[in-house]
Formats: sequence, structure tokens, C-alpha cells
Amino acid sequence: MEQNLTLPELFGSMLFGERIMKERLSKSTFQAWKKSVSNGTQLELSAANEIAEAMKQWALEKGATHFTHWFQPMTGVTAEKHDSFIEPVGDGTVVMEFSGKELVRGEPDASSFPSGGLRATFEARGYTAWDPTSFAFVKDHTLYIPTIFCAYSGQALDKKTPLLKSMDEVSKQAVRILRLFGDTETKRVTAQCGPEQEYFLIDKQLYNQREDLKLTGRTLFGNKPPRGQELEDHYFGQLKPRVSEFMRDLDNELWKVGVLSKTKHNEVAPSQHEMAPIYTNANLAGDQNQLTMELMKRVADRHGFHCLLHEKPFAGVNGSGKHDNWSLGTDTGKNLFNPGSTPAQNARFLLFLAAFVKGVDEYQDALRTTVASAGNDHRLGAQEAPPAILSIFLGQELDGVVQSIIRGKEFHEAGKKTLQVGIDMLPPIPQDNTDRNRTSPMAFTGNKFEFRMLGSSQSISGPNIALNTMMAEELRQFADRLEGQEDFQSALQELLKETFTAHERIIFNGNGYDQSWVEEAEKRGLSNLVSTADAIPHYIDQKNIDLYVKNGIYTEEEVMARYRIHVENYCATISIEAHTMDDMIRRQILPAVSSFAAELCRRMGDLKAAEVPVVYETRTCSHLAILTDALLEATEELEKHLSEVPEIPEEAMRYFRDVIVQDMVQARDAADRLEAITDEKYWPFPGYSRLLFSE
Ligand code: ADP
Ligand code: MG
Repeated sequence: MEQNLTLPELFGSMLFGERIMKERLSKSTFQAWKKSVSNGTQLELSAANEIAEAMKQWALEKGATHFTHWFQPMTGVTAEKHDSFIEPVGDGTVVMEFSGKELVRGEPDASSFPSGGLRATFEARGYTAWDPTSFAFVKDHTLYIPTIFCAYSGQALDKKTPLLKSMDEVSKQAVRILRLFGDTETKRVTAQCGPEQEYFLIDKQLYNQREDLKLTGRTLFGNKPPRGQELEDHYFGQLKPRVSEFMRDLDNELWKVGVLSKTKHNEVAPSQHEMAPIYTNANLAGDQNQLTMELMKRVADRHGFHCLLHEKPFAGVNGSGKHDNWSLGTDTGKNLFNPGSTPAQNARFLLFLAAFVKGVDEYQDALRTTVASAGNDHRLGAQEAPPAILSIFLGQELDGVVQSIIRGKEFHEAGKKTLQVGIDMLPPIPQDNTDRNRTSPMAFTGNKFEFRMLGSSQSISGPNIALNTMMAEELRQFADRLEGQEDFQSALQELLKETFTAHERIIFNGNGYDQSWVEEAEKRGLSNLVSTADAIPHYIDQKNIDLYVKNGIYTEEEVMARYRIHVENYCATISIEAHTMDDMIRRQILPAVSSFAAELCRRMGDLKAAEVPVVYETRTCSHLAILTDALLEATEELEKHLSEVPEIPEEAMRYFRDVIVQDMVQARDAADRLEAITDEKYWPFPGYSRLLFSE
């Protein structure tokens, strides 16, 4: 049936979107829904009842038997609890029921979701409520209702509640600024976002043979293959038929649930690919990115692949990231990061730019913490991703404009007319900001910022909460200062000059991968939080707590809870990796190597008896013996250290980084050398060549 649908028919066919709502709801209920979306207010129960009924009818027509409140707990994955629609009626038959109450409030037992200590065990219940700004959809005979997730005491237990709050706050402050520029029309400003998602596809059969991939999502061992990504022929290369089929199927699945999947191409590493959707509001984008990751895994499975979303599945091969393209748009259709063509539009653009520059400089560490994870530690600063230092790339021309504001000098547009930066005249902004710098963690790309530090498996909500909140804070400060000024133009000029001068250090247009940048950044006083264990403590710096509390995004308790979850996550990830490694060495690698050595010894006896030289056998045996000793020793160290993990979480986090991760490097080194000289038949799991070049 699907095959016969045209793309416009297919698109959103499983989504209870605006068009369907308009069709199926009474005019007043549709208006009530619209109003609750634009004002961020709660839906009345009578409207909720009508929507629930229409949603249920529609879902039943789409073959749904169950419904679920779908939410994003603080771990950044998604969770769901399925209930069936059936209600028994007295005579032994059932009817399909679903009420407005069930739509706006579900009560999952929250006790097994991480709460960072927010919820006492006697108050294990949490509640979920439909987020009317994100649409319900049908997947696997189930109606999915995107929801927020809170404790009964009202504290947020998810990533969506604070995201919605941060979107409201940045809207409020941005509208204040727009009023200063004489804009009386705009009622709401929306943070909008388009996440580019990287991933690997590997053969499912091979995947199933590796315990490390199954338990940790990455390879803990693997000798570098004779061919890596040196030829760079994969990037934008032709898609292999099986991959191409996967992508077509994925697009179909995404389109059905209303995800605007747009671009797809191969990435730098072999077996690596990327998908980018068309941007939408940051809330929907967050839901859709979670859904995309889920569907990638599921569709891959249908095509005999496994989809790896880990930040660094293979050592020595580029890892996967996620580029969070972020901007602010008005309900009147303007993008506030679009440099205008008139002096007034320029002034507005420069003010938003100044707020952004100030925010990133003041909250470098807060932004850094939002992308800190054990997986991302392998990427940041490793010549394949931006360094762990925050900086902003503006491009030569825009940088020229900023410089001329700082120095109060004439602005020379390359080869063109010269303009005086005067009281009533800001420099024109070049329209064509096409130069790209792929090494910057935060690049201005024409009309949006591209935050490139995110790991591929991460929820984009954390970084977007930080971007929105930081922007709200700076815009509020600007509005406080500019409102009521008699001479707005000169007050604005002064503010711009002062802000760009004070925060110039965060602007960097050079090569972020270069070692000299690390030194230069240190001279500029920028923070360089190399690992997760360095970054996470800044989550609870007073300045960063204040940012969230003052803007009404989190209470101090909620910040603390999130901090504890980050610490626990890091420790748990490394602990699982270390135990998996130990298990694979003891039960797979050491026995395999020992069998191979025994085989060589047997052969040596036979060959000697036949008076044939045994150079290969002898040398290999002694290499194997030396490396086996080294591996055993490293493993015993690792085991000993794993039994001595400190109890205090912060200490454990540092211990995992300084002791356990180092032990793992040692063990892996010996194991990879063994792999290089062991007969492939004996090696207990498929190696890199097969994993990476099998599609
Ligand atoms: P690339 O960065 O690979 O050159 P594009 O610039 O075309 O690709 O877009 C990358 C992503 O940025 C896409 O998801 C796109 O929808 C999104 N994007 C484009 N404009 C905006 C915007 N104003 N705000 C947020 N995201 C945007
Ligand atoms: Mg990009």
C-alpha cells in the first residue's frame, strides 16, 4: 500500500499533525489547542477530552491498539510505557477507550528512572503530560504521545520541561529587544534547530560476534586495518546498494512520522554516514532526533545491519558527532541571525550577535558540560572534531565588521567602498558568509550557529537548553540597559562596542585543530576542559547555577540532581567498559592466543622432526609469550584497580579517568599487538577490516 503513496501523501501519514487536527477537531477546540501552543498555557480538560477522542479514532484507523506517553528522562534516551486502549464492558466484550485525562496525565512508576536524588522512594510516582507543541504519531501499532515528565512535587525529571521553559524565556527577552527596534508585531520568538546526525552501519552478523559492541556500543579492541580512511574516497562517495536501500527505507519511516529528513550522504570514515533533517522548533527537533536515532537502529536491523551511534566505535577511525544548527526565528517569519540589508536590520542583527558572543564567552564551561560524556572524550580535540575549547568562528568578513566596531575605525569591504562607522551608521554585513571552517566548535554559517561539539548519541536538548538560557540572560541584560534610553542609537553603539571589546577573545577564525590554538587559547584565558571529569564539576559552579535559577529553568536542587546523574553516568559507562574488557580478555583473547601458541609448538615439533627450519614458529611463539605476559599483567592491574574504586562519586569519576582508563589503554595495546600476529582463524571475534569494509 505504502508503495503506491506519493511522497506528499506519505509524509506525515502517521502523524496527528496540525492538518489532521484541523480536519477532525471542532473549531473551538482547534483554536484552544493553537492558543495553548502559542501562549505555552495548559489545555482545558474539555478540549483535552475532544482531542483525546479524535486522536484515538485516528490512531485506531491507523491500526493502533496501544498508546504510550513517550518521554525523555534525564539520561537523554527516551522511555515509554504502553497501555492498551481496551476497557472491559460488563458483558465480557471490550471497547476502545482513551480520555482527556489519560492524554494530559499518565502516571508511570518513576522509581527506576534516574532522579539524581530528587525523588524520595516513598514518592516514586511521577506524571507525564502531553506537550501540545509536539505531535503524536503512530508507530508499531502504538499511538506515541510526546510528554513532559515531572515528579509530583513539580520538579522536572526530564529534558523536555526545562527545554520548553528555556524556549519561553528566550522568547520573552528577545521580544523585549524587538520592541526597542520598533517591532510591535512579533509575539513569539522560537529557538529553531536542525541536527545533523552521523552514524555507522556495520554488518549485523559481525556485530553479534563482538561482546564489546553489544555491551558498550564501541570496540574495546581492534588492530588498525591495513587500510583506514587514508584514501578519503568514502566522503560523499557513491552509496553501496544495500546502504542505499537502508536509507530509502529510513527516509520512508521518518517521513511517515513527519520527520523532514532531507540530506543523506557518506561520511569521512568507511561505513560512516550522515542524515540531516530540515530544521524546526527546538522542541520538535529534539523529539524528532530521538525518534530518528531509534528508527535508524530499527531499520538497520531489517537490512541486516547494526547502526552504531557511539561517538567513537573504532579507534584510529573518525568518530561520529552531531551538529546542532541553532537560530532564533520570529512568528512573523524573520530569522534574527540573518544579517539584514538595511542599517536598521544590521543593528538588530549585531545586537543578537553581540548577545551570543557575550553568552558563549561567559558560559564557555556551562556549554562544555552539556557535551561532556565518556564517549565524547574520545573525539573532542582528537584531530577529527573541534577541541574541548569553546570559541566562535565568524568568518573573515563578519569578523572585519566586529573589528571595525571595536576599533571604531573605518570598515573596508574588500575591494569595495569604504564606510565610516558613525553614530547612525553601522557597517553593512556581507550577505555571503559562505566560508566554512570545519574546525570550529561554534561556527556562524550565514544565518545560524552550528554547535559542533555534540556527540552522536547525545540528546540535543541539553545543549539547546544551555544556548537558549544563555541567550535569554544576555538579552535581558541588554534590554534592561537599553529600555528607556533617550538616544537609542548611541546607547546601542556603545553597548555593541563595549560587548565586542570585552568578549573579543572568544572569537577565533583560525584552525582549531592546530596545537598552537591550544596555547593561544590559554593566553586568552579561555577554558580548556579536556575530559568529562574536568568539565562536569563546572556544572555546579555558582555562576552556572545562577544562570539557570535566575532564568527560571531549574531550581538549584534540579541542577544538583542533573550534575549527580552526569557523574554517575560517566562512572557507570567506564565501569561497564572495563568489566567487558576484562571478560573478553580472560574468556576469549587469552584462551585463543594460548591455543594458537600450542598449535605452533606442535607444528614446531613436526617440522623439527622433518629437519625443516622453524624460524617463523619460534619467533612468533616468543612474541606471543612476551605479549601474553604483558596482557595478563595489564589485566591483573585492571582487576585490582576495579576492586578499589572510591565510594565518593566525584572521587570515583577522577579515579576512573586517571586509573581505570589508563589500565584499559595498556591492556588494549597488548591485545591489539597480539591480534596483529595471531592466525585469523584463532582470533575470537571479527577484526576492523571485516567490520569496516563489509557492506
Ligand atoms: P551544512 O552545514 O552541511 O552545509 P546546511 O547548512 O544545509 O548544511 O544545513 C545543516 C542543517 O542546518 C540542516 O538541518 C538545516 O535544516 C539546518 N538549518 C538551516 N537553516 C537553519 C536555521 N536558520 N536555524 C537552524 N537550523 C538551520
Ligand atoms: Mg554542518
